[in-house]
Amino acid sequence: MDSNKKFMRKAIALSLKNIENGGGPFAAVIVKEGKIIATGANRVTANTDPTAHAEVNAIRKAAKKLGTFDLSGCEIYTSCEPCPMCLGAVYWAHLDKMYYGNTKADAKNIGFDDSFIYDEIELKPENRRLQSVQLLPDEAIKAFESWVNTTDKIDY
Ligand SMILES: [Zn+2]
Repeated sequence: MDSNKKFMRKAIALSLKNIENGGGPFAAVIVKEGKIIATGANRVTANTDPTAHAEVNAIRKAAKKLGTFDLSGCEIYTSCEPCPMCLGAVYWAHLDKMYYGNTKADAKNIGFDDSFIYDEIELKPENRRLQSVQLLPDEAIKAFESWVNTTDKIDY
């Protein structure tokens, strides 16, 4: 438990430092077998990258370092409960466990409200705030058919 707190304190320290470095108040740490293998901080405005959230940045670094897209056996410590994009990334990365410091409600209180995305996910595409229109499904399906028929693919 003490090492868990140590890793979370590292994520929190990075979130504070990131503010000084012109980023948002979010950071994350990825740990494997008791060692930090990657860290990430929110660089959305600094990098003009809307996907440069702390967890996504940490996952990208960890995957690159380990040379795999599968981060099974790793745990993530994030200074705040993740947004839907980052939560999705945590699942896609197959991280074993997540620890978080601040909650979504805490983030909302300082102006980072992602609850509307969770609400949107519940809706059918045609009812979402984002106009979503299906187009050329007969042509798009060809890539899926090709994928199914490919024998030497890497499943993920
Ligand atoms: Zn996020």
